[in-house]
Formats: sequence, C-alpha cells, structure tokens
Amino acid sequence: MTEARLPKRLSTLPPYPFAELDRLKQQAMDRGVDVVDLGVGDPDLPTPPHIVEALCAAAPLAENHRYPSYLGSLAFREAVVRYMKRRFGVELDAQSEALALIGSKEGIAHLALALLDPGDTVLVPDPAYPVCAISAQFVGAKVVPMPLTRKNGFRPRLEDIDTRDANRAKVMWLNYPNNPTGGVASIDYWRDVGAFAVDHDLLVASDAAYAEIYVDDTPPVSALEVETLRDRTIEFHSLSKTFNMTGWRVGFAVGAAWMVNALGTIKTNVDSGIFGAVQQAAIAALDGPTEPVAQMRTVYRRRRKRLVEGLRKAGLDVVDTTATFYVVAAVPAGETAVTYTGKLLEDHGIVCLPCTAFGPGGEGFVRFSLTADDERIDAAARRLT
Ligand SMILES: *Cc1c(COP(=O)(O)O)cnc(C)c1O
Repeated sequence: MTEARLPKRLSTLPPYPFAELDRLKQQAMDRGVDVVDLGVGDPDLPTPPHIVEALCAAAPLAENHRYPSYLGSLAFREAVVRYMKRRFGVELDAQSEALALIGSKEGIAHLALALLDPGDTVLVPDPAYPVCAISAQFVGAKVVPMPLTRKNGFRPRLEDIDTRDANRAKVMWLNYPNNPTGGVASIDYWRDVGAFAVDHDLLVASDAAYAEIYVDDTPPVSALEVETLRDRTIEFHSLSKTFNMTGWRVGFAVGAAWMVNALGTIKTNVDSGIFGAVQQAAIAALDGPTEPVAQMRTVYRRRRKRLVEGLRKAGLDVVDTTATFYVVAAVPAGETAVTYTGKLLEDHGIVCLPCTAFGPGGEGFVRFSLTADDERIDAAARRLT
C-alpha cells in the first residue's frame, strides 16, 4: 500500500486552515517571537464551575459507564427543548425534534450524508466554516457559493442567487452570527430566507454556534422562529462557545423532525453517542444560571473595545460587528488577506486569520479572535500603534 492508493477526496482537500496557522505560529515562536495569538476561535476562559461539578457528580455513576443513547438522553433533549423555548420561544418535541451531537461540527459534517445524493447542489456562503462545503464534496454534491459582502452586512443577497442554482439546490447553509465575518441576521432576513426556501423548495441548514455571543442588547434569533422554515430547517447549536466547552464536545441539532431523524439515522450508524456524564453537565449548563454567560459577554465586550480602539488607532478599517468573539478588519490597500496576515506575524508577532481561510470570498479581510486576556489584547494594540 502506498499513498498513491489513497482516495481522491483526500488529495483534493485543502489543508485545514488552522493547522497551517499553527505551523506559522510555531515557526515564529521558534525564532523567539513573543506571539500574541488572536488566530483560532477557542475560548480561553474556563467552563463555569457548576458545569464542571455536574460532570464530577455524574462521572462515578455506573449507569454512565455503559453505551449512552444514540440520540442523546431524553433528559438532555428535554433540557435542549426548555432552552429553545426560553431563549427563542420555539416549541419543540424532545423525542423527535432534538438530537445530541458530539460538538456541532460533527453534526454539520454528517448532515451531508443525511440529506444529499451525489450530484445534488448545496448553496454555501463564501466565506464559511469549511465543514459545510467539504462534507458536501465528500458525498459528491456540488457546492454553489453565495458571496458574503460587507456592503450586504455579510448576508447573501437572495435576489442575486442564480434562479437555476436556487431551483436546482436542495440545501442552503447559513451561519448567524457569522464566523468569520461577524455578520448578523435579523428575524426579517430569516423571513426572507423562509419565503425564498418555499419558492425554490430548499432545505435550510442553520449554524447557530454563536447564538449567545453578542455585543449589544439584541440577542440573535433562531431560524426556527420563522413558521415557514419549521418543516424544512435543521439548526445546529453548540455548548462550545456559549459555555466555554470546546474541549467537551457537545452540541445539538433541532428542527424539522424528518431532518433531525435523518441525521440521527446516519449518526446511529457512525457513532455511539456522548458520555452520559458530559450530557449531565450539558443539562446543568442549559438549565443553569444565565449570569456566567452574561459575564462572558461582558468580558468579550471589554476586549472588543480595547482591540477595536487599538486597530483603529493603527489606521485599520475595522468592520462594525455586533456578535461573535471576532473582530474583522479590512486589509490595507496593496495587501491580500494572506500577505497582511504574514506581515502582522512578521512585523508585530500577532497571529490573526486571513478570512480567505474560509473561502475566496473572505479576500480583503482578516479576523482577530477575542479569546485572549486584556493584557495580550492590549499588547497587540500597542504593537500596532
Ligand atoms: C466553533 C464553530 C462550530 C462548532 O463548534 P463545536 O465545538 O463543534 O460545537 C460550528 N460552526 C462555527 C461557525 C463555529 O465557529
């Protein structure tokens, strides 16, 4: 056996953007640079203690040492349903409309197997979280990009989507609040998406991983709040960003029962669920006090203010965004996202992400993650001015 015998899907994969970023960062560190890493979006704050305590209480229980339920415990799915009702006013059935995921990335990737045949068309924003397009390619589906532009608030202009593509497409991916651009979508936008989806008989896959990471007093909405989307939408939520739980691997999918069921059927044949004690901890998170999440937002707000001020003082054109823990800036004239990222690392020891890591539509923008403490954020701002 040689590498030449590996399947084409491997050789056609772009390098996972964060691995490349890690390599460049390591090179700089090897040269002795004190690197300020604002590259990857992985919360630096710890998981709130009441969640960790729930894990510790549940870990010794023998019932949690056996195979867990494929779809997630009913108790977990009921907590999901309570959260969706409390937060978005969306009523769901725990048995048929909620599914536990080993992190939302897992569900996003497996959705392609659940919904797509080879040759099907998927509409994917450009830039976007790479998993949506790559998983579609894995099953031989065709990806049609929907450009996200600053002028349009980083929301696809539905009227610009080629009618043939819209009619051909089976699934439309959307992600709000948006990574990497920080764009947000109001309920009015989602209503337009609902009408568009009905017109073109599209399914909608909504990635709501940043639903709790917002700056001002307007919490993001759920696509499922739109009545016309209820029977044709699956929405992905994650505990990763909301509760600083990226290492725990737990999230959930909610939405149309038939879509949730399709994803569950794939998962049943691929994985065997989530450690019961992690699910207990996730219940504690979803049902628990909202103060830790509000405090986390306060921390990101403070960091955002410091970094935005620093970047603006340095003459950068910072995009005004109201959600996610990212700050997005236009690259100076004469630079590309990649050359400017390289320059920030070489000249200032700052790691950021070129938005082109999420697709060619990210050209012209770099993303700074607010997952470093005030001192490091200030250091980055100082180095630039
Ligand atoms: C972080 C992230 C996710 C998934 O996170 P999980 O840890 O797998 O739940 C999904 N979508 C986007 C856009 C993200 O940034």
